[in-house]
Amino acid sequence: MTTRYYYKDAYQTTFEARVTGCCETEKGYEILLDGTAFYPEGGGQPCDLGVLKAADKTVVNVTDVQEGGEVVRHFCDGPLEVGTKVQGEIDWHRRLTHMREHSGEHIISGIICKTHGYSNIGFHMGKEFVTIDFSGLLTEEQIREAERKANEKVMENVEILAQYPDAEALAVLDYRSKKELSGDIRIVTIPGADCCACCGTHVKRSGEIGPIKVIGSEHYKNGIRLNILIGEKALADYTQKSENTQKISGLLSVKPEHTADAVDKLLESVNALKLEYGALKMQLLEQKVDAVVAGEKSVVLFEKGLSPVDVRKLADKLQEKAEFSAVFCGDDSEGYKYVIISKSMDMAAFGKDFNRSLNGRGGGRNPMIQGSVTAARCEIEAYLDESLQEV
Ligand SMILES: [Zn+2]
Repeated sequence: MTTRYYYKDAYQTTFEARVTGCCETEKGYEILLDGTAFYPEGGGQPCDLGVLKAADKTVVNVTDVQEGGEVVRHFCDGPLEVGTKVQGEIDWHRRLTHMREHSGEHIISGIICKTHGYSNIGFHMGKEFVTIDFSGLLTEEQIREAERKANEKVMENVEILAQYPDAEALAVLDYRSKKELSGDIRIVTIPGADCCACCGTHVKRSGEIGPIKVIGSEHYKNGIRLNILIGEKALADYTQKSENTQKISGLLSVKPEHTADAVDKLLESVNALKLEYGALKMQLLEQKVDAVVAGEKSVVLFEKGLSPVDVRKLADKLQEKAEFSAVFCGDDSEGYKYVIISKSMDMAAFGKDFNRSLNGRGGGRNPMIQGSVTAARCEIEAYLDESLQEV
């Protein structure tokens, strides 16, 4: 049986223990100790990592810790002799992050349960953020309200208690629990916010949690999933977002609190310019068409910067004036997009030969083909000169 030091003191980072078992497994060496401060993965909280140091200076890394009923299973990258005394050292930064996140999760879950009657149906401490799933939906306003109350509870700096009430006390206690529990039940209480059966590690006072910020939400299993930053991660996010807003504020010459409105206005003017630009482009295309003398045998135009739709529009207008009309858009290095229209030729056959000769692709049906070629303008012109003479 392993004594779990983290229940007596969640702030204990080093400990001494004796190795009571060691065997090789697929996940490395599984080491059992008579006591440990390493928290095994459970209750939504990831396991601790760290090292075990033996008296003979052997050091093994603890790469995973799992619950094993009466024992805690430490998976390590090397073996330790049974009977040896070791000193264990947990990665405190990782553990403290988990403690802050776990306590923060209880506050948010307790508040939402109390306010809306929703259960916490899932909890995950991810690398980037914590996710909590609730059994019902919340509006943006309700999320902000829960977030505000949670941060208030943090700032109140209340004591967080972990106790094992007796059966009598437990029977009248109103606490959250994911499953039917038996035996000694550990109840974690955050006065005024939450009371919940929990096997995890928590900070001593709510003030240690730091800021709690909901950064996203999505529908999940008839309810809602909240993505939440707690502690250092919330602070880092605030710094990054603040820097971003400062930059946008500088670029748009508006106060940081007015950046969203300013971007709105900017997009409005971009859209107005797009419309104006489109109208001017159409005028230009029409002028090009007007310059062509009606009744020409063939008209071939080389253009730049036209959209595929404009290329087609231009070719469409030209075919009213000429027997054979072609519009190419691009340049020698990038290649050309094309639309070719002929009233008298078999365009399917023409297109096949055209593409084959000029390293192109595309096709179509009479009277129009379209596609792209990777050939130089002079090669395209030479090809068209020759094939049009044959007609
Ligand atoms: Zn918990």
